[in-house]
Amino acid sequence: MFSRGWSREVALSLAVLTIGCSGTVSHSDGAGGGDEGGGDEGAGSGPDGGGADGEPICLAATEPCQVEGEGGECCDGLECGHTSLGQVCCGQDGASCATENGEDCCGDLECVNGTCGHAPVGGGHAVTVFPVRGPHNLGYEAPFHQAGQWSCDDAYSNSDFVAGDHLGNDIWAARNTPVAATADGTLVLTGFSDYSGNKVTIQTADGWEHFMCHMDHLAPGIANGVHVTAGQIVGYVGNTGTASNGVIHLHISVYPPGDYDAGVDPWPLLHAVEHGVCQ
Ligand SMILES: [Zn+2]
Repeated sequence: MFSRGWSREVALSLAVLTIGCSGTVSHSDGAGGGDEGGGDEGAGSGPDGGGADGEPICLAATEPCQVEGEGGECCDGLECGHTSLGQVCCGQDGASCATENGEDCCGDLECVNGTCGHAPVGGGHAVTVFPVRGPHNLGYEAPFHQAGQWSCDDAYSNSDFVAGDHLGNDIWAARNTPVAATADGTLVLTGFSDYSGNKVTIQTADGWEHFMCHMDHLAPGIANGVHVTAGQIVGYVGNTGTASNGVIHLHISVYPPGDYDAGVDPWPLLHAVEHGVCQ
């Protein structure tokens, strides 16, 4: 991720920022101190059993297999089941996946942001409104500090999600650029914490959570228990919270119900609505 030829200074500051910004939701504390980050994240929720990339002694996902079920010729974490490709090695609920249409997930499971599972009813994970309502740069497609390269659209947009490390995306924009609710939902884990600064978490009807932090300040009336509608202004871009490392940006994470360790890369969801945000 640092191989794009950035200057050493930029690369270093990004490295610091990325580490500092990981895991910004606290499991149990809404308001404050929880420094949950390091412990459960880096270590290894990832089910990527496989280990070494040595010789293929087992069949990978989507490869045709003979013996149905677990424990056969498919690699660890996979079983021989049925997908749209026929009888192939595939992943059960929670297994990592890489295909767009879920051909490497067993049965009726889909590949939802890199994990086999059921898409939530009603699409609670969907971002229906792009959060930053002004010129911005999503990810590190352009040097983040060069405001001249910020855009009202997706001219500079890529993902800086790193599984187990940076469970979200960063969006660079000017201080006090309005931040909109990304979906309809009820606010939880909303307020201020030393680590995340001014933060808002929108819990959708499906239990998914859209978490945004480091805001300069929240909009009036934004507090736990309040229902918000997509597009409603909930706060303003800033650099509060130690995890911001003082850099002005919005961090956003999208979490499946009850799982703050998994996270999903919100970039495809954000990118889909990253147009005309300055109107
Ligand atoms: Zn971040």
